Amino acid sequence: MDERQHKATKKKLKIFGFILLILGAACMVTGFVDFGLSMNSDSDMPSLFFLIFIGSPMLFIGISLVVFGYKKEITTYVKNESVPVINEAAEELKPAVKSVVGAVKEELQGGETHMVTCPRCGAKNPVGHKFCPECGGSLEKICPECGAKQEADDKFCGNCGAKFE
Ligand SMILES: [Zn+2]
Ligand SMILES: [Zn+2]
Repeated sequence: MDERQHKATKKKLKIFGFILLILGAACMVTGFVDFGLSMNSDSDMPSLFFLIFIGSPMLFIGISLVVFGYKKEITTYVKNESVPVINEAAEELKPAVKSVVGAVKEELQGGETHMVTCPRCGAKNPVGHKFCPECGGSLEKICPECGAKQEADDKFCGNCGAKFE
């Protein structure tokens, strides 16, 4: 019974809110139109300008009442509808975001660190090439300290830290 009364009150609030909203909007529009007309003709003062001052609080109260009246619907909607939608969207977006982040990371790290400079001709080569396609020179060298394979332009051995001459 309480719930029903509550609903009835809310319904009244909604209707009252809508009426206020429409009246307020009408007052404001009338006021603005009158203001605009008197500005253009620049003869007499805007006589209906006060309607804006009446209309704006009416509009504000109307909106508040309507929002209050629909509050339950809005909260249940937000709880039940939009959360799974957001989760689903996030799930679907995850791989896309991941790949974008990966691409950006690679871009930021730059080609420079992934390239091997040929010690003979200076051409840049992607990591993994054994020989320079420009001059045929070797792009690998063997660390004299530990025997690990290193890129030809490395200054230190990545395995044991020995300095290359
Ligand atoms: Zn080369
Ligand atoms: Zn080494």
